[in-house]
Amino acid sequence: MRILVTGGAGYIGSHTVLLLLEEGHEVHVFDNLSNSSPEALNRVAEITGREARLHVGDLLDQRQLDDVFAELKPDAVIHFAGLKAVGESVDFPLRYYRNNVTGTLNLLEAMDSHDVHTLVFSSSATVYGDAGVVKYREDLKLDAVNPYGRTKMHVEQMLEDVAGSSDKWHIARLRYFNPVGAHESGRIGEDPTGIPNNLMPFISQVAVGRRPVLRIFGNDYATPDGTGVRDYIHVVDLAAAHLAALEYCIDHSGAHAWNIGTGHGSSVMEVLHAFERASGRDIPFELVDRRPGDLAEYYADPTLAREEIGWKAERGLEEMVADNWRWQSTNPDGYPDADPADLPDTDPSEEDGVKGSKPKRATGPNETTKL
Ligand code: NAD
Ligand code: UDP
Repeated sequence: MRILVTGGAGYIGSHTVLLLLEEGHEVHVFDNLSNSSPEALNRVAEITGREARLHVGDLLDQRQLDDVFAELKPDAVIHFAGLKAVGESVDFPLRYYRNNVTGTLNLLEAMDSHDVHTLVFSSSATVYGDAGVVKYREDLKLDAVNPYGRTKMHVEQMLEDVAGSSDKWHIARLRYFNPVGAHESGRIGEDPTGIPNNLMPFISQVAVGRRPVLRIFGNDYATPDGTGVRDYIHVVDLAAAHLAALEYCIDHSGAHAWNIGTGHGSSVMEVLHAFERASGRDIPFELVDRRPGDLAEYYADPTLAREEIGWKAERGLEEMVADNWRWQSTNPDGYPDADPADLPDTDPSEEDGVKGSKPKRATGPNETTKL
């Protein structure tokens, strides 16, 4: 298939692009590089021996989207592009609604006008909010509690509405739990900008010496060791879920939703100790107050994904932290910084494709198109 992957240069996107290439698909990435580096795609090419073409463009620019759809006429779209920081979404809700909701609306309009109706969408377990249970099933009421989660919830509802309007739409909504880990090569992984919000990248940066101490947000929850419990899911298992969902969507119309998690929760302390074993290092930590808005414990009921799309997580916590550590220890500062002079030129007045490049790139450039 010819697949357009929005946000394909990002953390989860790049791992999924890798798998799609390995499966023999033709892959095109549409990304504005606002939170990613083209180096991720160079490394994917190095690992797979195949290239995804990068189209540098923004979901908020309908013309750029139309140009890409007119040129490619993809068979399907996997839609990762979006902003994802909960705290930032509280401070800048309009930025989140515009990027995540309007961006997806633009994408759906471009898809419809170019007769592309198969879509896999990155949703999140945050759409459930405080569900009052610990094991989340897909039929729980959606009730997100922060602007980021609400953008995902609104997009999910929009997808349900378009799928309700016509059988031509074939849509999967994947509700990710806590994606962590990295490709086993250690060549691609999560590279957050600034101070990481999430546990795993924070622990990794403490282990590698970039940050002095992990702060554990509360040890008085009603959980076995008092620290928060989450369902961590290896990013390569998560990538595989997109392929399974896509295959299902080919001959099923509607807007389907599946939880993508292991079905097993781990506490902050368990993650910390697993990371210490994987890295062979002591990880300094201090216990601090709870983080506002955090829930004590939740994890996925992944039964529906297993039954309907034949997907289940294969990798456990030890593998997640070992792969995370391989990526972080061999790339302590993440991907090398881009030299602005070397980034693809996105001047919209130009029409031909150009070769984008970055300093210290690992391989020759992927083909890059400016829109
Ligand atoms: P990421 O930031 O690494 O990737 C997102 C990509 O989208 C980036 O490459 C960014 O440059 C691009 N992008 C953002 N806005 C864009 C726009 N307007 N036009 C074009 N490109 C744009 O994030 P990720 O962790 O890979 O997450 C991918 C998706 O999964 C997101 O939609 C996120 O909300 C969702 N999700 C992530 C997590 C998580 O913990 N990582 C959990 C649940 C859901
Ligand atoms: N957490 C922590 N210290 C950190 C980051 C996170 O103790 O620096 C805890 C957090 O309170 C939660 C768990 O780790 O119990 C997972 O947090 P993360 O932000 O990764 O995921 P989310 O809470 O969004 O599911």
